[in-house]
Amino acid sequence: MKLYRTEGVVLRTYVVREADKVLVCFSRDRGLLRLWAHGVAKPGSQKRGAVQPFCRARFMVAAGREIDSVRQADGLDYHGHLHTDLISLTRATYTCELVEGFAAEGQPNIELYALLLEILARLGGTGDHPLLLPAFEIRLLDVSGFGPVLETCQGCGATADQPGLSFSPLQGGILCASCRDGESGALSVSLGSIRTLETLRSWPLDRLSNLKPDSDTIRDITRILRSTIGVHLEKQPKSLSFLAEITTSYPKA
Ligand SMILES: [Zn+2]
Repeated sequence: MKLYRTEGVVLRTYVVREADKVLVCFSRDRGLLRLWAHGVAKPGSQKRGAVQPFCRARFMVAAGREIDSVRQADGLDYHGHLHTDLISLTRATYTCELVEGFAAEGQPNIELYALLLEILARLGGTGDHPLLLPAFEIRLLDVSGFGPVLETCQGCGATADQPGLSFSPLQGGILCASCRDGESGALSVSLGSIRTLETLRSWPLDRLSNLKPDSDTIRDITRILRSTIGVHLEKQPKSLSFLAEITTSYPKA
């Protein structure tokens, strides 16, 4: 039987049979993976800690005909604090759901992997702040090849620096006032919101806490990012409505 080693983050798990689970992992060198983990739902299982959601682990895996299975799992970062409060748990679940939605089986994406590790390390800790999730969302789109075009109009190529701009989720970018005509679903946005989005995609995450966007800007960037994500996933993430429910002013919390 062919064995291989890989490192990955457990995005979610589900129970199959009595004591077995399937782990949905995002691995560093193989992209999205589904792994069968025998016996890990038993209380005494040695692998139990390393197969929890959000854990980064090193796996020894046996290749199978239908699904590969975990032979050994050594936890590297457990991110246990993400399980201790509901808001952190939900935000981390949302993060992992988006990674699962944008990652592909057999296609590593080292930038997305690094982004996931950085966000999980910050969520619920001292590196957290209100703009962390929107910053994650735009960077996720960027490293997945779906980053919104914010500098120039998608219709005519004019520099997007005049009032009357809108954002087209379907075209994945800005439209100037004259190109907006006839574009259904375009969202009006201010220049300030566009600049804030550009900052979210490029500044080091440490510095984002210096940004103090007003509520209109937060509304704009949230609509742009969520609608763009919705277009590419062809649905809204399942955890998003719960996230909105438990945080009164997402993306604040
Ligand atoms: Zn135009």
